[in-house]
Amino acid sequence: MVQINLDHIYKRYQGNTDYSASDINLSINDGEFIVFVGPSGCGKSTTLRMIAGLEDITKGDFKMDGKVMNKVAPKDRDIAMVFQNYALYPHMSVFENMAFGLNIRKNDKADTKKRVEDAARILGLTDYLKRKPAALSGGQRQRVALGRAIVRDANLFLLDEPLSNLDAKLRVQMRTEIAQLHQRLGRNFIYVTHDQVEAMTMADRIVIMNEGRIQQVGTPAQLYNEP
Ligand code: ADP
Ligand code: ADP
Repeated sequence: MVQINLDHIYKRYQGNTDYSASDINLSINDGEFIVFVGPSGCGKSTTLRMIAGLEDITKGDFKMDGKVMNKVAPKDRDIAMVFQNYALYPHMSVFENMAFGLNIRKNDKADTKKRVEDAARILGLTDYLKRKPAALSGGQRQRVALGRAIVRDANLFLLDEPLSNLDAKLRVQMRTEIAQLHQRLGRNFIYVTHDQVEAMTMADRIVIMNEGRIQQVGTPAQLYNEP
């Protein structure tokens, strides 16, 4: 298990005068499902991308188990990320897409095969491992993107609006699947959405962001049900 600290983190993109994230301060407990919610442009993706190492942190520290991670390369962070647009490789099969993150880390071939097959079983993709992404439904593609993350067995999972390209019915179904996946893995999840219902149904704790800042943090009951 891992203790995660966002320690007064700021982000100002090159060429911008304003900060896109300001004083993001949050500790995440073991196995928590955290949801960042807020309107488009409030800094959710920026925050997630700093945690993943895809953007530099302008000021402040991101820590895992007390270790400052700011300068650690993304592939060395023990973090798996799922993107909104799936980011699948069109020329690779489902198997190859799911194995990609392990292959670039030179993981043992037999172990990779086992992990991909296990993930495929969990996600209902066993019969699709040889297909290309173009021959899958939207829900199946999203499952492949999830599969690529879970084969890594990372300590922290980052999900950036993973359901926003799916229709309403599938979105509800995938919400449940992601919640079950979280239960099963027992890892920390940080999930970004602009959908309040998604936040309420999935989160252990919700972080409400606005204009680059954390406005409120609490359980769904604390934030939405009380007078
Ligand atoms: P959200 O994920 O909540 O929609 P973002 O983190 O994507 O918000 O964006 C926060 C702010 O940072 C916005 O004003 C956006 O225009 C700006 N921004 C995001 N990415 C960049 C970038 N690469 N360069 C400059 N500004 C950016
Ligand atoms: P999201 O829906 O996550 O907010 P966007 O569609 O706003 O994403 O942005 C897509 C990509 O463009 C992201 O990688 C983001 O960092 C980048 N981006 C967003 N705003 C800007 C900006 N003002 N200048 C440059 N890049 C940006």
